[in-house]
Amino acid sequence: MKENYQYDAIVIGSGISGGWAAKELSEKGLKTLVLERGRDVQHVRDYPTTNLEPWELEHRGALTYEELKENPVVSKCYAFKEDAKHFFAGDKEHPYHQEQPFDWIRGYQLGGKSLIWARQTQRWSNFDFEGPLRDRFAVDWPIRYEDLAPWYSYVEKFAGISGNRDGLATLPDGDFLPPMEMSCVEKHFQKVVSKKYKDRHVIIGRCAHITEAQPVHLQQGRVNCQYRNLCRRGCLFGGYFSSNAATLPWALKTGNLSIRTQSIVESILYDTKTGRSTGVRVIDAVTNAATEYFARIIFVNASTLATNQILLNSKSSRFPQGLGNDNGLLGKYLAFHNYRGKAEATYNGLLQYTTNGRRPNGAYIPRFRNVHRQETGFLRGYAVALGGWRPLVEPQGWGGELRQTLEHPKEAVWKISAGMMGETIPKESNYVSLHADEKDQWGIPLLKIHVQYDDNDEKMLRDYFEQMKEMFDEAGFSDITVTDTRQAPGLDIHEMGGVRMGNDPATSLLNRYNQLHTCKNVFVTDGACMTSTGTQNPSLTYMALTARACDYVIRAMKNGSL
Ligand SMILES: Cc1cc2nc3c(=O)[nH]c(=O)nc-3n(C[C@H](O)[C@H](O)[C@H](O)COP(=O)(O)OP(=O)(O)OC[C@H]3O[C@@H](n4cnc5c(N)ncnc54)[C@H](O)[C@@H]3O)c2cc1C
Ligand code: SF4
Repeated sequence: MKENYQYDAIVIGSGISGGWAAKELSEKGLKTLVLERGRDVQHVRDYPTTNLEPWELEHRGALTYEELKENPVVSKCYAFKEDAKHFFAGDKEHPYHQEQPFDWIRGYQLGGKSLIWARQTQRWSNFDFEGPLRDRFAVDWPIRYEDLAPWYSYVEKFAGISGNRDGLATLPDGDFLPPMEMSCVEKHFQKVVSKKYKDRHVIIGRCAHITEAQPVHLQQGRVNCQYRNLCRRGCLFGGYFSSNAATLPWALKTGNLSIRTQSIVESILYDTKTGRSTGVRVIDAVTNAATEYFARIIFVNASTLATNQILLNSKSSRFPQGLGNDNGLLGKYLAFHNYRGKAEATYNGLLQYTTNGRRPNGAYIPRFRNVHRQETGFLRGYAVALGGWRPLVEPQGWGGELRQTLEHPKEAVWKISAGMMGETIPKESNYVSLHADEKDQWGIPLLKIHVQYDDNDEKMLRDYFEQMKEMFDEAGFSDITVTDTRQAPGLDIHEMGGVRMGNDPATSLLNRYNQLHTCKNVFVTDGACMTSTGTQNPSLTYMALTARACDYVIRAMKNGSL
């Protein structure tokens, strides 16, 4: 069969954002090609561990010594375990340079990290979009909440987001499916916090799980989440949202989508005569053969840092520093989430309750610091991800004693654990660039990552510890401990920026529709486009921005302006 090299649209990457671009563009009639560097992963068929019992895993879920040695970075990720390791990119095969310690966690396969994400999905509010302008950092976002709100609703309805309508200005409600339930210790904490602080709220997590399947989910072949909490293995019920279960099969049904896996986009082609991109250059991951594919529209959705790498590597006589990079800011103003703060405690009450189930979700405190006014010595603030559960007492002793404790497990007291999700300030000094000499096995220059914490992050961390200790104390918790995990940036897996949106082409790369200011048929709608980071888990915002940009493309193509 002769391969087609000409399409209406090319989407680079098939993860959370690329899946949405594929769906929207092919649904609106564009012949669309998704280029994915990793292997094919078909929903259900390619989830080899999804139904395994713990004793069926050779190492009971643990990694071997060799795997740990070969993967010093990715093995720090809590989800990189025996049952899900096949959905992560290995360190040895995919090297990069850490000018400062940076843990780059990647999922190189069809579906990207949508298979392994933790599915927490919160909307941004105007407190986030107006942040850079109000607090005078980065550049002003070219959009506001009102621009994105209809697109949040649009993606929420299709993806299936469970949540409670909490009516909070800092965390707008979405088009939710019924919420999951909080554990009794979380409810206790919620009550205490709302009584003591009028600006702090403990709520159930909003997450991309189907709690009451709607016709649109059944049409996708997805049904209610079964609360197995084995999501990172891939879900045969389609209980959570992934590209593999939702957007890609939906797009394929239109007959307009082609998917090419094992296809590494090396660069985007640019035509100086027309001032547009003509397509992309691809290296076959297996044969190393180079091929060019052509299209009128290019969506770059390779995930934040990979997208930066592709654009930096797309050099032409017009753009010698990388595509769209007239102002020299491509790769700069990177930011991430500060996840270094952990707080834990125990609770001796509520001992009449004995179980907390296997809810694949947690509780959440939206940002409360510096929201309405600057009230601390640091900029911005943090959200808190928390969970309260009642664990079993660890089995003890040897021989008969061990057997006794295993046969008659006892429950310990309630535990509560809280993680900081701090906003970091995008800075020119946090950047990525291409290595001048070193290349990967496909001949692509390695990415150099230069990203670090700053004084603002340290101050925020100290405040988090103080506030958590105070709130835990108010709730009557004991054994309160706070820990600085000192984890490197990157392990939060919320890296953002480098190709930021803005109004002014002198200080940003993308306009309000995620379109490169200086190459109008190239759109970047993954985390690379983010002007600032907020405190929310970011993927829902990438989805909404992608759907919105696709809508713009379709309208612009119709009226002849693109
Ligand atoms: C364990 C874990 C938990 C997480 N929890 C959450 C959460 O609760 N909430 C949340 O919002 N986010 C969470 N995230 C982050 C979330 O996964 C990412 O924000 C999201 O996947 C980003 O979407 P994306 O489309 O930009 O990239 P990805 O989903 O990573 O997809 C990018 C795709 O592009 C492909 N690609 C890369 N380079 C190239 C190239 N050169 N050519 C062709 N293809 C290429 C990759 O193989 C990949 O398939 C989590 C991530 C992990 C790993
Ligand atoms: S908890 Fe829900 S989404 Fe996760 S694997 Fe189980 S059924 Fe699937």
